[in-house]
Amino acid sequence: MAYKTIKGSEFDITSEPAPFSMSVEALEGAGKTHFSLMDTPGPVVHVNFGDRDATWFLYQMTPERRKEVTMYDFQAASSEGWNRAEGMQGLHDLSDIAKQHMEGGKLNGGTFIIDSGSSWWEIVQECYVKPQTEQRGDGKKIGGLEYMQGNLIVSGVVSWLKSQGAFVILTHRKRQDWGSAGPIPGSYSPQVNRKVPYLVEVRLDLYKTCLTCQSQECRAVGHVGREHKGRLLKFAAQTMLEGIEINPVTFGNVYRMYTGKRPPWYPPEETKAPATKLTAHGVDSTPAATKVTS
Ligand SMILES: [Zn+2]
Repeated sequence: MAYKTIKGSEFDITSEPAPFSMSVEALEGAGKTHFSLMDTPGPVVHVNFGDRDATWFLYQMTPERRKEVTMYDFQAASSEGWNRAEGMQGLHDLSDIAKQHMEGGKLNGGTFIIDSGSSWWEIVQECYVKPQTEQRGDGKKIGGLEYMQGNLIVSGVVSWLKSQGAFVILTHRKRQDWGSAGPIPGSYSPQVNRKVPYLVEVRLDLYKTCLTCQSQECRAVGHVGREHKGRLLKFAAQTMLEGIEINPVTFGNVYRMYTGKRPPWYPPEETKAPATKLTAHGVDSTPAATKVTS
């Protein structure tokens, strides 16, 4: 384990804050990949563990943007789905990809995306947690201990990624919560390793609502169109900003809030930056810390 010493007395606070890491959490189809791929600073490395094809987004990009993006698409080798050997290979490949693109500051200021972090965590569990349960053979749960190695791997990889000078995004699927009476409307949980919420600086909840009835679960015939929305679940150490909505929900707007600066990767000819409207649930005035400068 490597570490570095930071002396407060010698720290240059005029320097740029280090790129932050994010967990982006949403139901399928609510814009995790769109958020991560379309507005983040390049070069962009996108590692796709999900079962959805991300190449669709290449068609939506400008030619300049396309040149900045490298995608890695992981797929199960058979119709049976992932097996343990493949999963292990996938974890090694992820480590190779990360080293190849990031080591020595190669991706400085760019973006590294694991999409989805939920699938990655499932693979880590299959490869490092399940074998321990099987080895004991008694089927009894021994709680957190079983997860220790898996947690260490996730923590290690995320902190290594964070220290390489790039923005890091882990996307997470949400799943509907179930109660004794079946699915609980409007209640969802992200499929996330429990260390990740502590490791990332920003947690963003993405969701979409019906343009007609505002419901997240609208299935009404004739209700056409959805609005994509985002809400901060965590924002560095500023608890004041938890629950605040970001509109429009773009990475550039999160960057503006985090640094107080205009995203440097936005084209220079753009004099009018997209407006950021912040609304807080139950708070009338926008806290001073959320003032956005462009
Ligand atoms: Zn509706």
